[in-house]
Amino acid sequence: MLPRFEGAFSLVVMDLSRIIGVRDPRGFRPLCLGRLEGGWVLASETPALDTVGASFVREIEPGEMVVIDGSGVHSSRPFADEEIDPKLCLFEFVYFARPDAELYGHNVHQARVRMGEHLADQAPVDADLVMGVPESGIPAAEGYARRSGIPFGQGLVKNRYIGRTFIAPSQEMRALGVRMKLNPLREQIAGQRLVVVDDSIVRGTTTRKMVQMLRESGAAEIHMRISSPPYRWPCFYGMDTGTRAELLAADMEVSEIRDYLGVDTLSYLGLEALVEAVGAPGAGFCTACLTGEYPVAIPAEAGKGVLEGGTTSRPEPQSLFQGSMFDLENVTIGTTEETTVAGSDPDAGVVEEPRG
Ligand code: SF4
Repeated sequence: MLPRFEGAFSLVVMDLSRIIGVRDPRGFRPLCLGRLEGGWVLASETPALDTVGASFVREIEPGEMVVIDGSGVHSSRPFADEEIDPKLCLFEFVYFARPDAELYGHNVHQARVRMGEHLADQAPVDADLVMGVPESGIPAAEGYARRSGIPFGQGLVKNRYIGRTFIAPSQEMRALGVRMKLNPLREQIAGQRLVVVDDSIVRGTTTRKMVQMLRESGAAEIHMRISSPPYRWPCFYGMDTGTRAELLAADMEVSEIRDYLGVDTLSYLGLEALVEAVGAPGAGFCTACLTGEYPVAIPAEAGKGVLEGGTTSRPEPQSLFQGSMFDLENVTIGTTEETTVAGSDPDAGVVEEPRG
C-alpha cells in the first residue's frame, strides 16, 4: 500500500504494541526519532522531544519507515530507490518550523539570523532602526542589524494572547487580527527610518495593514526586507496558501509590490543566498512556491484554476479587512515615496534604486 502513496506525508500511527513512523520519499515534512528512558518517541519537530524529556536520536530519512516495538526500532525502505529524492520544505527554515528546531542537523533560529545577515549584504540601506515583524521576522532582523551595524529594536508589540492569525478562516478575521495582534510602539517609531524585516509575504494584505500602522505612528521611512524570495506559486504539499491568483507576487514585479504595500523600498533575499544561509550544502529542498518547480507532479484536477496567475489589481484598504489569510505572522507595510526595488527573479537577490 505505502509505495502507492504520492505527495507530502510524515505519518505516525500506533496500535497496542507498536508505533510506526513513515516519511514520504522526498521528506517534505520533518519527522524525528527520540529516546526516552525505557522508550522511544516520534515527533515532527525536535523541540517536542525536549518537552517530554527525550533526547534526539536522528531524523527519519526520506522514504524510511520505522516500526518500534518491545524489541526496539526496526527500519525499512518501503519505497522504490528511484523514488527517494530528498526535498525538505525550504519554508520550514524560513517560517514553519519552530526556531528551536533542528533540521538537516542545523538550528532553525541560527539559519534565520544568517538569512538576515545575507539580506543586509544584498540590500543595505541607511536607516535608524532595524525591527522584525513579530515573531517570525525577528531572528532575521537580528541578523540584518548585526551585519549592517544599525541598532536593533522593537517597533511592534505582539499580543501574546492571540494565536496564529494566518489560519483564520476568513480575510475579514485575518485583517482584523492584524490590529488585534500587533500594536506599534510609537515612541520607538516616530521620526525614524525603519528597516522592517519579515520572513515572507504571501497574500500581502496584512503586511499592507501593518505598514499603514507604522506610518500612522510617524515612521519617517519604511524599508521592507524579506528573508526569502517572492512567494509566487501555491503549495500543494501541506500548506494552504490559496490559489496563485491570491498570491501577491504571482504576477507583480517587486516595484509593484513595493507600491502596493506602500513602503519606500522593498527587497527580497535571493534563493541562492537563502539556501546558503540554511547551511546544509548539498541537501535537497523543495522550492516550488518560489520557483514553480514542483518535485511531485500535481494532479490535473488539483492544478486546474489553482495555478492560474494572479492579478495586479489588488483590493483597496477597506476591503483588506474583508478577507485573506496566512500573513499575520509575515507582514510588512509602509507608504510610498521615491524608491524602487528591482530583482523579482528569485535567484537575483535584491536591489533597489531611488525612483524618480
Ligand atoms: S511549495 Fe513551498 S511551502 Fe510547500 S513544501 Fe515546497 S517549499 Fe514548502
